[in-house]
Amino acid sequence: MSIENPTIAPATPTAAVQQDFIRQIVREDLAAGKHHAVHTRFPPEPNGYLHIGHAKAICLSFGIAAQFGGWCNLRLDDTNPGKEDPEFVEGIKDDVRWLGFEWHSLRHASDYFEVFYRSALKLIEDGVAYVDDLSAEEMREYRGTLTTGGRHSPYRERSVEENLDLFRRMRAGEFADGAKTLRAKIDMSAGNINMRDPAIYRIRKIAHQNTGDAWPIYPMYDYAHCLSDAMEGITHSLCTLEFEDHRPLYDWFVDKVDLPNHPELWQSVVAAGLEAKPAKPRQIEFSRLNLSYCITSKRKLAQLVSENFVDGWDDPRMNTLRGLRRRGFTPAGLRLLIERVGVSKQNSVIDYSILENCIREDLDVTAARRMAVLDPLKLVLTNLPEGHAETLTFANHPKDDSFGTREVPFARELWIEREDFAEVPPKGFHRLKPEGEVRLRGVGIIKCEQLIKNADGNVTELHCTLDPETRHGMPGADRKVKGTIHWVSAKDAVATEVRIYDRLFNVSAPDSEEDGKSWLEHVNPQAKRVVQAWLEPAAASAEPEQRYQFERLGYFVADRVDHRATAPVFNRTVTLRDVWAKPAGQ
Ligand code: ATP
Ligand code: MG
Repeated sequence: MSIENPTIAPATPTAAVQQDFIRQIVREDLAAGKHHAVHTRFPPEPNGYLHIGHAKAICLSFGIAAQFGGWCNLRLDDTNPGKEDPEFVEGIKDDVRWLGFEWHSLRHASDYFEVFYRSALKLIEDGVAYVDDLSAEEMREYRGTLTTGGRHSPYRERSVEENLDLFRRMRAGEFADGAKTLRAKIDMSAGNINMRDPAIYRIRKIAHQNTGDAWPIYPMYDYAHCLSDAMEGITHSLCTLEFEDHRPLYDWFVDKVDLPNHPELWQSVVAAGLEAKPAKPRQIEFSRLNLSYCITSKRKLAQLVSENFVDGWDDPRMNTLRGLRRRGFTPAGLRLLIERVGVSKQNSVIDYSILENCIREDLDVTAARRMAVLDPLKLVLTNLPEGHAETLTFANHPKDDSFGTREVPFARELWIEREDFAEVPPKGFHRLKPEGEVRLRGVGIIKCEQLIKNADGNVTELHCTLDPETRHGMPGADRKVKGTIHWVSAKDAVATEVRIYDRLFNVSAPDSEEDGKSWLEHVNPQAKRVVQAWLEPAAASAEPEQRYQFERLGYFVADRVDHRATAPVFNRTVTLRDVWAKPAGQ
């Protein structure tokens, strides 16, 4: 595998990550000569866009393959026609690449439909699968419960010949949806309900996004998934903990079908030009990534979109990978989160601020600085001549000279942030106040001489003087004042739409339903606010997806959809500090 964008190095695994239990298993298997190389896969169902939880599965499967010199396939698990869409397939490919990974081979579970079918015929011939006529409801009832065993279906003892005939006719489309089901003959009294004659195939006369109307029957996930793994020679099949109870069934199918020793079952795949090297895979489960203030269910994310709580799957408030991308989150920041969270079998909820800190850490190093004013108040430097114009040189990054410098226009009339002035300052307020002094970032010290108010008594303009002795290169340049504020030149600043985003939910566990409320009632109506801001010219000319730190305000990104140099649009990615841990303010 390769990293798509060579300028972003993959997060270096920390000692903690390198010692996680899955990497330990892989290391031991390789040392014992069980495998020559590690082969993994990431198997999303294309029924929605990927979310932050998937980032963990992606980083793990692709990351382990890369670390141990193996490869990872991207496999679209498309066995559920009707819910799946080619739009999602393209979105998933895009998102995986954006996170920084490249697959060895792109596969679809539907590439193996013929293999699944032939394998099912083999299971019937071997006497371990049968066609059942019970309805779905009856089957559920016969299955029993956690405390009581199940009952045998009256159709369980059909002959091999009858089963072969019925299954072939299922495939030929002779029966209605739900009329018959192919089931594995395992053990109706098994403690693990998954082993009580699980379904292998059901009849669904519905077109499939890849195979069209070729198949009136579709394989069940538990059957298709393990055989897909076996087909591709996957050595370590990594999945989340909810599949732990399915592992005995996974192993059962892999053993009973035995693809490596039955090439006749998979000739069709080779004939179709796909590489096949069946092997016996091993499933290993790890805990899901759960984050506070986030929803990690595709169904619920889809509901946010369809019920217009957000403006689409890529809305910057969404914790889909495309939403996070549009919000300005970085692949390196997300990989850092996954590395920090580590891998275990312990279920936990990660605090959202850990994610935000990972993004800040990355952006602090990678984002150039600019000045912007989001809530403008006019400030006039009355001791500068009318029409005064200067160009100042600013460093683009305070800690990294390689970012170079830029020109910032400076003039007699400026915009400053309204909250950087207080007529009646609270205790400890170090910014601008009547008669007070403050440093104008990169210019010198100013003093507030006069307030101009409108008829309502609101301050509309500040008249200040700039102390010439405190300017760059002057003897008083180092004179100390407590506060420094940012600004933009009023006549040079570019009017810009800035979308101020915040967390989409106003409680940490929106879908806990502990308070008897529906998760949708916790949507934060303040999560998007649009303001008209002023930007220094060097920020407005950004390319879409260019990220900046707007000094003292936070990290922002030029919107990848709506931004134009002629009509700039920036999204707030994250504030400079965690404002959720304490009351908002500085
Ligand atoms: P959803 O329930 O949202 O539909 P899913 O698990 O059904 O999610 P899949 O497309 O089947 O979604 O997931 C692909 C892979 O990603 C699976 O191996 C799954 O275990 C893994 N995955 C899904 N959600 C998470 C998560 N929150 N943390 C880690 N891995 C996850
Ligand atoms: Mg799923």
